[in-house]
Amino acid sequence: MEKLTVQQAIKLGIEQLQQAGLDSDTLKLDCEILLLDAMNHSSAPNSQQKKTKTWLLTWPEHALSSAQIQHYLDSLKQRAQGRPVAYITGTKDFWDFSLKVSPDTLIPRPETELLVECALDKLPLHTPVKVLDLGTGSGAIALAIASERPDAEVLASDASAQALEVARSNAESLQLPNIQFCRSDWFENIPEYQFDLIVSNPPYIAPDDPLLETNVQRFESQSALLADENGLAAIRQIINDSRNYLKPGTWLMLEHGYTQAEAVHGLLKEYGFRNMRTVKDLNRVDRVSMGQML
Ligand code: GLN
Repeated sequence: MEKLTVQQAIKLGIEQLQQAGLDSDTLKLDCEILLLDAMNHSSAPNSQQKKTKTWLLTWPEHALSSAQIQHYLDSLKQRAQGRPVAYITGTKDFWDFSLKVSPDTLIPRPETELLVECALDKLPLHTPVKVLDLGTGSGAIALAIASERPDAEVLASDASAQALEVARSNAESLQLPNIQFCRSDWFENIPEYQFDLIVSNPPYIAPDDPLLETNVQRFESQSALLADENGLAAIRQIINDSRNYLKPGTWLMLEHGYTQAEAVHGLLKEYGFRNMRTVKDLNRVDRVSMGQML
């Protein structure tokens, strides 16, 4: 292709993805993100700062270089096969930063920001606090808490060494000194601190859930998504073990599936937690439940 402007590239992208029958309700946005990624990766080494969506809107007539066209077409090909945009670009926006992600980590979801909000709400102010994020993946939750509360010490764990690599690299790029990492299958290697808060977005989808056929999840780490006992096995284990790692009066908070709030309350109660609450996400479905260790 000899010449392609920004505007033409987006139109071409949408057409290609439509022709491939891609099931996405964000075709234009997908193309914009992939185009920006191509422009930012295949620019002259000395070129100014990162281009943004505003730049795309401002310069519809800007012509892409041949390297940029190549990069963009290659990304479209991957997207046409269903590969999630975040795995093609290797990044995903979460909270107020852009995180590196890989197929070893889930792609952070907007609804998980609710868990961060709940955590910030319950963390005591003006006192040094210790927070544990179990199964941190790309580090999204732990990094957001660490960035909002520089006085907090955050420990982020994951059973996957590859996921921890990604999380560590995110902590380095964000230059957050108050976060540490620990390779651990749930509590297996967690030091015996008394934490002021434990948070987790564990696997909670039942292995036979029909929603698993959806585009994104086909590409994600199944061990980060799926749990036995109808999706509750990891949640049960975390609730059970958390009891030994929380200071009296502090909270355990878990993200879960929208039909699981009642079951999670039941488990929290069974293992001695009190004052259970569930919070709905932006789609108005149950998403985060918490209980207090008395
Ligand atoms: N919220 C994710 C989804 O619906 C699942 C995340 C998880 O299992 N922790 O795809």
